[in-house]
Amino acid sequence: MTDVVVAGGGLAGAAAACLLARAGRRVLVLERESGPTHKVCGEFLNAAAQRYLDALGVDPAALGGHRIGALRLVRGTRVIEVPLPSAGMGLSRFRLDEALLAHAAAAGAEVLRGQAITQARSDPDGAAPAIALDLPGRAGLRTDTLFLATGKHELRGLRRTQTRAPEDLVGFKAHFRLAPHAARDLAGHVEIILFPDGYAGLQPIEDGRANLCLLTSRARLARCEGQWEKVLADLLAEAPHLRRRLDDATALMPRAAAIYRVPYGFVHAPTAADAPGVFRLGDQAGVIPSFVGDGMSIALHSAAVAVDHHLAGLSAAAYHRRLRRDIAGRIRLAGAFYRFGRWPGGQAILMGLAGAWPAGAALAARLTRLPPPTAEQVGA
Ligand SMILES: Cc1cc2nc3c(=O)[nH]c(=O)nc-3n(C[C@H](O)[C@H](O)[C@H](O)COP(=O)(O)OP(=O)(O)OC[C@H]3O[C@@H](n4cnc5c(N)ncnc54)[C@H](O)[C@@H]3O)c2cc1C
Repeated sequence: MTDVVVAGGGLAGAAAACLLARAGRRVLVLERESGPTHKVCGEFLNAAAQRYLDALGVDPAALGGHRIGALRLVRGTRVIEVPLPSAGMGLSRFRLDEALLAHAAAAGAEVLRGQAITQARSDPDGAAPAIALDLPGRAGLRTDTLFLATGKHELRGLRRTQTRAPEDLVGFKAHFRLAPHAARDLAGHVEIILFPDGYAGLQPIEDGRANLCLLTSRARLARCEGQWEKVLADLLAEAPHLRRRLDDATALMPRAAAIYRVPYGFVHAPTAADAPGVFRLGDQAGVIPSFVGDGMSIALHSAAVAVDHHLAGLSAAAYHRRLRRDIAGRIRLAGAFYRFGRWPGGQAILMGLAGAWPAGAALAARLTRLPPPTAEQVGA
């Protein structure tokens, strides 16, 4: 008999499973992918995310992570460099998510791969346990406590309630091996390269690779006949800095990973209609605009707070109220910066401000990011 079922073995789900197993709970993790995958992500781990991983026993540096000490903001040929308030780390999700899930299994969680839940039904016939999960080829699975950590994927029966239309943007992610001079210039930096309909993040990750992650409009995608290679060529024609970086680079992924309609700004607001016993984690609880580089720390934070609440016998509603207090203000502020940057003229003003007042960029980072957890919060 399982105490908790975790739907989704990404960062939030694997972290929660690890903590629950360590506390002696019987945990079952259902992950739809049967092996490691490339997720659309800038792969920038901020200080809080590193601290949470460290407390879980996963050391991003030992996994090959690349230390990142400064941010370069680039628009056209203008480049502004600002030191980061605390060092970040570049590490692929391909490697990190797998390491964390293996860690959960080693801690005692039962991890089932290649298991895509197709639907959740809460209290379908008044029977206990109250939540029924449908999985192809498997007899109905029931639980009283579900940690919903399916990331950007909606689970039928437990979809997120969205108050605004998702962004009309498409995200791509691809790994490259840069030419030696470009790799040297990029070392230790995350570069945010702005262009009229979006931006790209470029940074070094493990094994001398570089990750390029970008958001662009669906209009550009349509103009480029839906093809990543054409989107990239189109962008390189507009972004001289990125063109120089990718000159003579080797593509390391057979095709780019893609995502669209991300509901930036979403924060779950608990209501009386919520299914009791369902704890939403990570992107299922809140989605911060990605340029902030805080999504992974929010995912790990939500896992820690949800497990604390569950172990203390507190309700899912109490957990959601607490998490909302922790993240809603930061997500709102990041959203305001993001909308300003998308407003015509907004990018030029942001560049001007960052150039004239570099401490302002560090302050903005501080205000939109979760602070690193204290020793007490990570149970150290
Ligand atoms: C363009 C972009 C760039 C970003 N860059 C950064 C960054 O640089 N730094 C940062 O900190 N954050 C970044 N983020 C945010 C970050 O990627 C997410 O916030 C984070 O991955 C959320 O973790 P999660 O565990 O909630 O979801 P995920 O990591 O997406 O995990 C969800 C898991 O659930 C599984 N799953 C889904 N559906 C089912 C199902 N039905 N049954 C079983 N399993 C299922 C999936 O296979 C997956 O493994 C970025 C996001 C975007 C869109």
